[in-house]
Parts: sequence; structure tokens; C-alpha cells
Amino acid sequence: MALVGRHVSIAGSIDLAFDRAKALGCTAMQIFVTNPRGWKLNPIGKDSEASFRKKREATGIVSVAHMPYLPNIASSNKDAFSKSVESLVENMERCSRLEIDYLVTHMGSHMGHGKEKGIENVAQAVAAALERSSGVTVLLENEAGHKNSVGDKTEDLVRVSDIIKDKRLGFCLDTCHLFASGYDITDHKVLDEMFGSLSMNKVFAIHLNDAKKELGSCLDRHANIGYGHIGTEGFRRFLSYKGISTKAIILETPVGEDISEADEITLARSLLP
Ligand SMILES: [Zn+2]
Ligand SMILES: [Zn+2]
Repeated sequence: MALVGRHVSIAGSIDLAFDRAKALGCTAMQIFVTNPRGWKLNPIGKDSEASFRKKREATGIVSVAHMPYLPNIASSNKDAFSKSVESLVENMERCSRLEIDYLVTHMGSHMGHGKEKGIENVAQAVAAALERSSGVTVLLENEAGHKNSVGDKTEDLVRVSDIIKDKRLGFCLDTCHLFASGYDITDHKVLDEMFGSLSMNKVFAIHLNDAKKELGSCLDRHANIGYGHIGTEGFRRFLSYKGISTKAIILETPVGEDISEADEITLARSLLP
């Protein structure tokens, strides 16, 4: 069965994510492994951790973790950079203990120091974190294209990967971000060009989000599937592109807006080839 699901909450206890995902019909899910808006990792009890591994085994749901929002691994500020590397390592260690296969990270902002410097910093941060950890694969996520962002062009992801050359580094492509940064993902010619340099084998997850704003808006505004500018037929074409439907497909769409969470997952599944 195709790996389709959504980002779910870990409120109460981290293992409850599996119960929530299962109730919605997910075969894949994404979670934060700590408070997404803080620097410090709040502790997970040994019991919750063991229960998480047990439920993972029992449900077979593929789990992907997402880094918290504050770290910026593209930063040229020494303190901010080392704090961000520490956070990446801590999140990776936590994933290893929970037996989570993938950790998604944004590449961050170069804060005016230029894209070159930003890419250099990201490569340095990820290489250091990979060396200090084991197990989990880090996935670089593409960005919508807000000011100073690193990763708004898929070449940025490829460049970091070319510098690091590590099997434990891959990519996560967000459809809303791609669309916002000017890639019309509903057009197979655009995808041919993108995957000409970016290796499909290194893509392990897709963030399947519709876009509230038009192509090239540079704005990161997720819409429910079929309720944005990509649209159901656009997603049908995107998902039919060779290789895409085998990835872990994760929705990060608004909850309580245009469609229920369970119905949206059913809809996403129905758009697969
Ligand atoms: Zn993300
Ligand atoms: Zn986004």
C-alpha cells in the first residue's frame, strides 16, 4: 500500500501519534520529536519511548520527524550556528532512539550573507551532525523562496549533497514550496528538468500541500489538497510522474478548513496512479 499520511500531534505522549495516524488511515506520518517552538528538548519518558517503538512495529506506519523551527543551520553567526548544530544532533539522537528513519530539516536563512555562504554553512552543519550520530537519514527540504532563504532552488539541495556525499543525506520535496518558488510541478517537462540534476533516488519524502498563492509567489501558504492553485488534476499529474508515488507522502495542510483530515488522506490516495 502506498505510503500516505499527514503531520500529526504528539500531545500527551509521543506514542499517541500512531493512534492518531491510524485513526485517520495513514500509512506514513510526520511528527515533531520535541516542542517545535523551543530550543530545549522536553524529555520523553522511557515508557513512552518503548511504547512508540512497539506501536511502530505493530502498525507498520512509516514515521518521519521534522526539525523544530528555531535552528538555522545556514547562519553565519557563530553562536546561532553551533546552537543549531547541537539541536540537529539532539533531534537525530532522539530519532535513533525512537527508530525513526528520516529527519526533515529546512536549510534556513543566510541572513544577508549570500547564498554561497549559506550553502557552505548548511553543508558544514549537516556533515558535523552526521558524523556525531548514527541511524537516521537527514532530509533537506526545499523552501518557498522567502527573502534570504537557502533551498528555494532545488540546485541548492543538490549542491549540499554533492559537498557531503553521504548515504544518510537525502531530500524532502514540498509541493507548495516548489510551486511558490516557481516550479510548475503539474508540468512533467518542469519535473524532467528538476530531476535531471536532483536524483529521484535521494528523495525519500514528499510534503504534499496545495498552494494558497499563485505560481512563483514565494509565499509559504499551505492549502488543502484540491483547494489551492495546484488543484486535484495538478496533483494527479504530479503524482503520476515516474518514481513519486513510491515516496512517503505527507500532508501538512490546514486542519478544520476545507476538508476533514481523513477525507483528505483518502482524496490524496485516490490521486495516485
Ligand atoms: Zn518543513
Ligand atoms: Zn511550508
